[in-house]
Amino acid sequence: MDAELLIQECKSCGHRQFYPRAVCADCGGDVDWLTCSGRGTVHTFTVIRQNHAKPFKNELPYVVAIVELEEGPRMMGNVTGAHPDDMQIGTPVEVYFVQADEGVAVPFWRPMVA
Ligand SMILES: [Zn+2]
Repeated sequence: MDAELLIQECKSCGHRQFYPRAVCADCGGDVDWLTCSGRGTVHTFTVIRQNHAKPFKNELPYVVAIVELEEGPRMMGNVTGAHPDDMQIGTPVEVYFVQADEGVAVPFWRPMVA
């Protein structure tokens, strides 16, 4: 699908932030949207081994990580495409999108192929 990963960048001080806010969290200035490369590294992660709620129980075990974007901010998301036992802090990952609704996509992550 055609989608972009967006964060915010301050017009005054250059601070970058995610999640989106009305103003810069650093200086209070106006912010613009910045399109990200879609690449980052696993800052930290956990392996979910118990979740009895549908649809998650069919996905067990799965990895939820804090991904540090190349652009700086960190965001949480699922990492797929690797066995949870092989996941490591510092793993390079790239984004892909799962369409949730018309015009709405959820960013997921997968290890980058070297
Ligand atoms: Zn600012």
